[in-house]
Amino acid sequence: MESLISLCKRRGFIFQGSEIYGGLAGTWDYGPLGVALKNNIKKIWWKRFVDDRDDMYGVDAALLMNPRTWEASGHVAGFADPLVEDIKTKRRFRADHLLEDAGVDVKGMTLADMDAKIKEKGLKSPDGNALGPVRQFNMMFKTNIGATEDGSSISYLRPETAQGMFVNFKNILDTFHPKLSFGMAQIGKAFRNEIAPRDFLFRAREFEQMEIEYFVNPKDWEKTFEHFRTEVLAFTQDIGLTQKKVHELEVAEADRAFYSKRTIDFEFDFPFGKKELYGLAYRTDYDLKQHSEFSKVDLSYFDEESKERFIPHCIEPSFGLDRTVLAVLVDAYQEDEMGAEEGSKEKEGGSVTEKRVFLKLAPSVAPYRVAVFPLLKNKPVLVEKAEDVYKMLKKVIPNVTFDDNGNIGKRYRRQDEIGTPYCVTVDFDTIEKGTGVTVRDRDNGKQERVMIEELIEYVMKNAHN
Ligand code: ATP
Repeated sequence: MESLISLCKRRGFIFQGSEIYGGLAGTWDYGPLGVALKNNIKKIWWKRFVDDRDDMYGVDAALLMNPRTWEASGHVAGFADPLVEDIKTKRRFRADHLLEDAGVDVKGMTLADMDAKIKEKGLKSPDGNALGPVRQFNMMFKTNIGATEDGSSISYLRPETAQGMFVNFKNILDTFHPKLSFGMAQIGKAFRNEIAPRDFLFRAREFEQMEIEYFVNPKDWEKTFEHFRTEVLAFTQDIGLTQKKVHELEVAEADRAFYSKRTIDFEFDFPFGKKELYGLAYRTDYDLKQHSEFSKVDLSYFDEESKERFIPHCIEPSFGLDRTVLAVLVDAYQEDEMGAEEGSKEKEGGSVTEKRVFLKLAPSVAPYRVAVFPLLKNKPVLVEKAEDVYKMLKKVIPNVTFDDNGNIGKRYRRQDEIGTPYCVTVDFDTIEKGTGVTVRDRDNGKQERVMIEELIEYVMKNAHN
């Protein structure tokens, strides 16, 4: 993780939030390459779940919502994590995390169970002091709307994007008149006042989610659940995650949200353990019912065929975008030995190898698909030709970069580190003999000559991944 975090900073993927002020725990800022990677993931997600379907409605709801929303959803009363306080330093920790770190399986445990276990094991805070009782801590960020700061102006930064879809359910029904089954999809920020943000992007206080609320007749919930189970897995393939690192966990009833009749967690083998990447839940008619009750607006649906009126049930696939970025990065991070003859070091006699770091990103998510170089920076004829090739590619492939800094070996190492699958070099043969350019493969360093007319097809040959 340390090497990855430092690569992310060094190469402009991800920085600590507000770094010049010493940072702000649980916040991360994406630099140009991080944004490119994240946008590619969003595009792939939106394509699979919205653009390629006829039954999905995209929305982008406000982050600040009427506070009644969060009363209806249950967040005001119950969106809490178990907290323990170091009685001396007053630092707060997640009780379940301390227990897990001590090898305790916390699944299904109540607050009282955790309290008892902490005592039984004699657990201390990470600062070495005794711990207070385990309490519930609401994770929503409170804020005041408008100029007054009394109770009537309180609202919350949304802790999930889901509710922005439920409150727009009727708008979609009234404007598009969709027939069941149909879904709503949204990508956007969510905020949770996590007691202990940790593991880089994994547990942040501000993060992005990609969520779907898919509405069905209750008789169809099982087949829809199954459909999304396979779609979630297909998406993990789209973004190139190693399939054997993705696991499904059938969440037991005691560990499910109280409204959920079935939940699967999709877990990923992160360097810090097997942890939740995505969730898929059958939320029944809980949310629409609650919002109907609290808002006094009828959120039922009339089925023309059966002439029945009912509140649709909901299947929710929920994806953390930053956790996806992290999974993609840790999965792609590789170190190997490669011949130094590529130029970063002079070859002295026998073959010299050196350690290289590279990101084996799927071309579909890589910030750049191709980098174009002139072999030498100080030869205008090479630079001009390389610029022509760059422009030609750029017209068709938006994420192409041009690099003429340092020697060719350094450029390869730089592109390897940011995960660019192909490096195209214009050399003297390109101009004098018309034999095309060299294309170097990031993963094995092999080079092939490719005619310029065939270049686009060559670098896009595995465009799907
Ligand atoms: P966890 O148990 O890890 O706290 P959760 O079960 O509370 O997660 P959900 O409420 O189901 O998470 O949120 C849906 C998705 O949002 C998660 O699967 C995860 O990908 C992402 N997510 C949740 N909390 C965070 C966070 N603090 N930082 C980054 N991503 C998060």
